[in-house]
This record gives sequence, C-alpha cells and structure tokens, in this order.
Amino acid sequence: MEIYREALGHAHATLEEIAAGVGKKPKVTKRALARLAAAGKASVEKIGGSTAQPFEGKRVISETCEKNEEKSHLGWEELKATVRACQKCPLLANSRTNVVFGAGNNAADLVFVGEAPGETEDLEGVPFIGKAGNLLTKIIDAMGLSREKIFIANVLKCRPDMKPGESGNRKPTAEEMATCLPWLGEQLRLIQPKVIVALGKTATEGLLGREEQRGQWAEYAGIPVMVTWHPAYLLRAGSLENKRKVWEDMLLVMERMKMPISEKQRGFFLA
Ligand code: SF4
Repeated sequence: MEIYREALGHAHATLEEIAAGVGKKPKVTKRALARLAAAGKASVEKIGGSTAQPFEGKRVISETCEKNEEKSHLGWEELKATVRACQKCPLLANSRTNVVFGAGNNAADLVFVGEAPGETEDLEGVPFIGKAGNLLTKIIDAMGLSREKIFIANVLKCRPDMKPGESGNRKPTAEEMATCLPWLGEQLRLIQPKVIVALGKTATEGLLGREEQRGQWAEYAGIPVMVTWHPAYLLRAGSLENKRKVWEDMLLVMERMKMPISEKQRGFFLA
C-alpha cells in the first residue's frame, strides 16, 4: 500500500503545480500505459486470491511492440498483408515464390517457431510441410493437439536465396533473421501464446539472439520458450533415445500449459 500512497502523493503534487502554473504537463507513453494496465490487472488478481502462476496468462507486451511502437497498431490481416509485401531483404524478396507468413490458429496457446522456409514451403507458402513437417505434425498430434489449434511460424518469412544452379536449402544468416524477427514479434504480440517451442539451434539463435541447450526454458518478451531439436534432426538421428528427449521437452510444455497428460503419453518412446 505504501507504494500507492507515494504514487498518489506525487500525482497530487504534480496536479497542484499544474494548477498553480508552475509545473510541466505530465506525458505518458503507450508503453507506460500498457505496463500500468498490466500491473493493475496483476494487482486485482492478487487481491482476488488468484493462484495463477507467472507465465500462465496471456502476455500483452512484446519486445517488438516496445521497440517498434509504430507497428503495434497492426491487426492480424494488416500484418499479414504487410509481411507479404515486405521487401526489406531485396535478394530474398526477389528470389522467393511466396512469403511464408505462418499457419494455424492466431489465438493459439502454443506457437512452434522454426528457422526459415525451405524449397517446398516456399512453393506452397506454408511452413513445415514435407518430411520434417510431417514429423512435427505427428508430435503435435501426440500431444493431443492439431495444427489447427496451434500456430507455426519461422523466424525468417522468406526462403534464403540460393546461388544459380544450387539446390537444397541454406541456413539463414543471423543478419537475415534479425531483419525479419520484428514480424514474428508482431505475430506473437497479437497471438499472445502461453508457450513458444523453438525448433532447433538456428531458430533458437534467431529468436533469442543466443544459443540455448535443448530441454531448457528460456523467455521471449515474457513468454516461456522451450528449446528442442528440429524435426529434421530427428529424421537424421531418430534413435529411440533422441525421440524420447524431444518428447520429454513436449511433456514439459504440456505440463506448463496445464494440459491433461495420460499415462500412455508419459510412456511414449520408453523402451
Ligand atoms: S525475410 Fe522477412 S524481412 Fe526479409 S524480405 Fe522476407 S519478410 Fe521481409
């Protein structure tokens, strides 16, 4: 209560100064208002005896929003149209077939984040299709979810360009990912998921700006991030042990989201 009394005291003194014509008019930023609203909501929940834990609620403030207030007014469809027209990386914009915006539920509690579209994704405009995408779909199904219930996006929305005559896909550079990351930040600001799963080392570095071990919790804009292996890695090194490691990461995600977990689910990939 003391902090509220102090704040009220300051406000009262400021109003008196303004009334007397000696004080400056107070200014407030959108960011400060958002923080005030979030703090007020938290206080009400606390006073009401809520047992909610940190990270369980939807997050309102994103780093991107804070850094980039001019974009924070965009709604979902406006954001999609803006990203689809993006030319920030001229080489990628010229070589892409489609901008791969993302797919799934834009109010999802869970968002999977990969690094960049590959050749098939670029052609179809959909993230995580092909063999690795099919494996990701199986993992999502095993969690009792579906691709329609979650959202899948990449840090980079355009396929990294290839030299003429080269086939396959290349890893996005740190600079490319940093250039595109604000779009993902905007998506996350609008979706407000409870949990993000970062798929693989490159996606983790693109999202967090640093390396992080598999199976560890990190955080992006106040949202908990579980780091796990990319399904493409599991296709190359899909031993029972490795599948179990990724599955244990998903069990942690399910626990964090307070999803029901059956005994059968707990026992997947145990010998
Ligand atoms: S990769 Fe991202 S930032 Fe670069 S052109 Fe595509 S949408 Fe724009």
